[in-house]
Amino acid sequence: MTDSTNLKESCAVFAVSSNSDKADVAPVIFSGLLALQHRGQESAGITVLKNGKLSTFKGLGLVIEVFSHNILKGLSAPIGIGHVRYSTYGSSDLINAQPIEFESKPKFALCFNGTIVNYEELRAELERDGYVFKTTSDSEVIGLLISKALKHGSDLTNAIIYGMEKLKGAYSAVLLSEDGTIIAFRDAYGFRPLCLGYLKDFEAYVFSSETSGLDAVDATFIEDVPPGSINVLKSGEVTRLKVRSSRHAHCMFEWVYFSRQDSIVEGVDVFSVRWRLGEKLAELNPIEADYVVAVPETSRIAALGFSSKSGIPIMEGFGVNRYALRTFIMPKDRGYFARLKLNPLRQALNGKRIILIDDSIVRGTTSKAIVSMLKKAGVKEVHLRITCPPLIAPCYMGVDFPTFEELIAHGRSVEEVRKLIGVDSLMYMTIDGLVKAIGLPRDELCLACLTGEYPDEIRPFLGKKVVVKK
Ligand code: SF4
Repeated sequence: MTDSTNLKESCAVFAVSSNSDKADVAPVIFSGLLALQHRGQESAGITVLKNGKLSTFKGLGLVIEVFSHNILKGLSAPIGIGHVRYSTYGSSDLINAQPIEFESKPKFALCFNGTIVNYEELRAELERDGYVFKTTSDSEVIGLLISKALKHGSDLTNAIIYGMEKLKGAYSAVLLSEDGTIIAFRDAYGFRPLCLGYLKDFEAYVFSSETSGLDAVDATFIEDVPPGSINVLKSGEVTRLKVRSSRHAHCMFEWVYFSRQDSIVEGVDVFSVRWRLGEKLAELNPIEADYVVAVPETSRIAALGFSSKSGIPIMEGFGVNRYALRTFIMPKDRGYFARLKLNPLRQALNGKRIILIDDSIVRGTTSKAIVSMLKKAGVKEVHLRITCPPLIAPCYMGVDFPTFEELIAHGRSVEEVRKLIGVDSLMYMTIDGLVKAIGLPRDELCLACLTGEYPDEIRPFLGKKVVVKK
C-alpha cells in the first residue's frame, strides 16, 4: 500500500480468438483477467461468441467472486473478450460493468481502459441524434459512435475510424463482433498500454493490457499495439490500420505504480525502472540511516535499489493485512484504511532511523497516517523518499487523481509538504531522473500531472470538470 492507493486506474482488457472451433477460451480469459486484477477491482465481465451469438456475463467484485466454474462452463467458446473495471467515469453499479453489448448491425460487445475526456459533448451530440443511453459509462459513448457509423453504412473498421476521429482522451479498447471479428484499437498517444501475443496451444491471438496477462496464460509476446492503430483479428490473422500518427504520451505512472513489476511496457521492464528509481534516489541525496524500509507493495523494488546503491540494509517494516481490500462499507478515512492494512514492526524498527521509500504522495493523508504509526512504534527518524516527482496537476487521461486543491504538492514547497506529513526529511525523484529511469525519450511520455502541461488535444477540455455520475 502507498499513498497512491488512493489512485485508481480505469480497467484492463483481455481478448482471445482461437482458430480452432473446438477451443474453449473462457478459462484463458478468466486467467488473463485474474493477472490484470490490480488494474480494477469493482467489476469483471466476459463476452464470448457462442454459436454465432454474443453471450455476456458480468458482475460486481473480483474476478474470482464473479466467475464460478459453472459460469465459465456456460461461456465455453473459441473467441471472447474480458474486462476488469475501476470507474473513473460513471458509477460503480453493475449497469456500468463491461463488456457492454450494442444492438447494431452487426451486434458487438466493447470494453476499454481509459477515459474519454469529451464524454459530455459526445453524449449530448448522440442524444440529439436520438440515441438513448443505458449507462453512465464513457464506454457507451464509444460504442454508440461506432453504432451510428454502422447505421450509416460504414463497415466495422470505418466505424471505428469515425469514432476515433471524434474521441478525445485515453483508450485501449477491444471489440468483439457477432461476425467473429475481434478489433483492438488504441488512442494516438498510447496513454494506456495494450499488447498482442500468441497462444500456441490454442492457435489463438491474445490482446492484453499488460504483458503479465500474456505470461499468465503462457502466450508469447509479439508486440505492443501501436498507438493510433486499429487491429483486426479474424480467421487467425491480424491486419492493422494506422489511423492517426501523433506524438506518443505513454503514462509515466505505468512504470512508477500501475503496471505489475513483472510487466514490460513499451519495451521497458517495470522491475528495472523501479530499481533504477531507488538507486537514483540514493544517489541524489546520500543520508545516514539504520534501515531502508519499503511501504508495501509497489515500492519494494525501489527500496531494494536504494539499499543496493547506498549499502544501507533493507528491513521489513510492516505486517500487511492482504485481505484488507477497500469496500464500500469502509469509512472513507484513508488513515483508517492504512491502519487496517499496515502495522509497523516495532520489534525491528524501535529506536531506528529509517529511510522510508514510497512511490508517490497524492493527498498526503495516507503518508501522514503511516508516518504517525511508525513514530508511535518508536521509530527515531523517518526520512521519506518518493520515486515519483511531486504530483501538482490532475489527470484527465484515465487515472483517478483528485483536483488541484486536493493534491498536497500543488502550490506547496517540499518543505511545506514535509511539515504536513511529519517526517524528518522528504525528497522526491526529479522529473529528469524519472525520465532517465524509464529510458524512453521525454517527448514519448505523458508527464502532465508533474508539469501541468497536457498533450494538445486534451488541453481544450481543461477546466471542464469530469463528473462522476451516481
Ligand atoms: S497525467 Fe499523469 S497519471 Fe495521467 S496519463 Fe499523464 S502521466 Fe499518467
